[in-house]
Amino acid sequence: MNNRKVTGNLQRTTIWAAEHWLATCGSDLNAKAQKICATAVQELGRRTGFLPMAAPLLMIILLAFNPLLLEYWMPIAVLYLLLLMAAMIRIALAQKISDIGGGERVSLARQYQTTVDISGLCWSSLVGLMLLTRGIDQLTELALIATLALTAGGFTTLTLEMTLWRRFVFALWMPLILLTTASAMQGLEHGWILLTIELLIMLFSGIQGQRVVRDYITGLLSQTDLEQAVSTIAFQRDELLTHESRLDELMEQAYRLSYYDQLTGIGSRSHFHERLTANILTRGSGQRRFAVLYLDLDGFKDINDTFGHEAGDELLKIVARRVGSLMRKDDFAARLGSDELALMVNNVANNHDALAVMQRCLKEIRLPVTLQGRTICPRASIGIALHPADGDTALALLKAAESAMHTAKRATKQRFARYSPEMTLAAEQRLSIEQELRSALTTGQFTLHFQPQISTTNGCISGVEALVRWQHPDRGLIPPAEFITVAENTGMIDELGEWVLFSSCHQAAKWFASGMPPFSVAVNISPLQLLDPGFTDTVRAALESSGIDAELLELEITESAIQTHSEARDTMMQLSELGIRIAIDDFGTGYSSLASLKELPIDRVKIDRLFVKDMLSSERDTAFLGNIINIAHLLGCDVVAEGVEERAHIDKLCALSCDCLQGYYFSQPVAAERIPEYAREACDLALEDPGLARVAVTAE
Ligand code: C2E
Ligand code: CA
Ligand code: CA
Repeated sequence: MNNRKVTGNLQRTTIWAAEHWLATCGSDLNAKAQKICATAVQELGRRTGFLPMAAPLLMIILLAFNPLLLEYWMPIAVLYLLLLMAAMIRIALAQKISDIGGGERVSLARQYQTTVDISGLCWSSLVGLMLLTRGIDQLTELALIATLALTAGGFTTLTLEMTLWRRFVFALWMPLILLTTASAMQGLEHGWILLTIELLIMLFSGIQGQRVVRDYITGLLSQTDLEQAVSTIAFQRDELLTHESRLDELMEQAYRLSYYDQLTGIGSRSHFHERLTANILTRGSGQRRFAVLYLDLDGFKDINDTFGHEAGDELLKIVARRVGSLMRKDDFAARLGSDELALMVNNVANNHDALAVMQRCLKEIRLPVTLQGRTICPRASIGIALHPADGDTALALLKAAESAMHTAKRATKQRFARYSPEMTLAAEQRLSIEQELRSALTTGQFTLHFQPQISTTNGCISGVEALVRWQHPDRGLIPPAEFITVAENTGMIDELGEWVLFSSCHQAAKWFASGMPPFSVAVNISPLQLLDPGFTDTVRAALESSGIDAELLELEITESAIQTHSEARDTMMQLSELGIRIAIDDFGTGYSSLASLKELPIDRVKIDRLFVKDMLSSERDTAFLGNIINIAHLLGCDVVAEGVEERAHIDKLCALSCDCLQGYYFSQPVAAERIPEYAREACDLALEDPGLARVAVTAE
């Protein structure tokens, strides 16, 4: 409402200002009024080229018709000269006005106005003079008609501006009216009628002119508005076009970002999904079958940690290029996430084809790569799912292939697997383990079992290894292999490990308090625990709260933990300074060399059970084992053999001077209460049999 009022006021001001442009142009008019002024001035100059000559011409014609007037030659000559001068000036001004622009044009228009007034005044004076001297004769009538014609001519050209028109009308008619009045008073026939007519014409043309000015200005105003609207539209159209092209650019960028992986240049996850869905639709019932491969690089984290992230990126690019080179027309490769790739391979109908595809991929990936001057052979695990047997939607196929890949990763022998429904079950169980693990710790569902370690020198128990178990309310006893990795991946291993450590120390304290002779308690430590800066303090606290001697606590650390992290070495030094014994677990399965034993504070080497198993069938393995034991002894470490299941193992290991034995032959891991009873029996039997007696305890 208010807005409309303001706009209305502005409009009225503009019209008013524009109507009076000769008086106001150039001062602080609004832009619209100024534009109208400029247009009108120009128009004035353009239109009035002919008008200035009209009055002198008419005068010549009059004189030519009536030579009698020549007796008044003096005033007539003066008037004529004035008229001619004004005419000349007007022509020049009109020309200039239409040619030039800006504020100068306005002052010219003002001069123009003056000359127009003078012309009107001269002509009117002449006609009035005629009237006074000759009365209304034919010639005077003609002159009066010419005056009317001048008014009409002026009307068409001068009504561009209100003041201009008003002054012209006034200048043209005023002397005539005055002289007509004088003539009428001197008794001119019809003098008063003529005066009335003259007055009426003056009034009428004045009022009518005013109306024309207003219409003209309003027209100009609308035209200006229209022009403004057109230019605004043109501007907005240009802007729109710019926005459109920017939008196109952004769309293309978004397409590239969402359809292609930025690092490797192969497809993205969403692109893969789309292609897979399209493939499922076109291949329909499965006449031409295809497979989805899920590929995950092994030890990618270690590569990043060891060589840096740039090298990790480089490796990803190389692997992507390699698998990409194996793709045929219509096959498709994509990167799903950090080190995971997916491939869609057509015409894979059965297990035989699937095997061939996976082996081809692995062979290509395993070709040597040089990263920062070091040559490595990349390794990967691959899972495969076939359409439609293993899934009939994109999601199902990908999930199946992923499950198969996880199975392949866990397997020790081969790094590829085809999907089977049991894998889904296993995956579901893993997922539920993840969800239940936290509450399991707070509700006390974990227990410890202990496996005796027998000294080869006296057959007595020299220590026990604590092994954690999960007493699940529905699923019974769950072995650590099923939840330790999950705990490591979910960050719960620190809490779980701390519980194992404290419980083991307190259990040992209980045994010793009950009168058992001291023996060592070995606790398994996850590589992640060693990276915790507060780990040494945790161990110290466990010792203090239980009160057992530091040298009775043994920490089992896997080889890989020591290899990959230098922080782990620092922690090991601190632990060793506490007086704790450190054992390398699963020795022989990693990549550590015996030389590294020299640099680390290691007290014990635990030979992996695979070595012990192979020992019986291969003389070479026996010799190899013998060498390991000798070198370990030379480096000041004692040796424990794991997985002792047969009497023959004992004989051979004793012959090789192994210090300690652990395995089902002696006992499975058992509950804490059974350890004292076992220890007693083992020692009693050892007294009877100088060799190593079998107590053969089995878990319940
Ligand atoms: P590990 O440290 O190598 O533990 C020895 C494993 O070998 C135990 O399996 C044990 O039951 C089994 N074993 C012992 N003697 C024999 C034998 O004569 N023959 C055969 N075939 N197996 C034998 P378990 O208890 O299932 O533990 C598996 C792994 O879980 C352990 O391997 C260890 O790496 C991990 N683990 C167990 N408890 C803990 C723990 O408290 N913390 C951490 N971080 N890891 C643990
Ligand atoms: Ca162990
Ligand atoms: Ca072991």
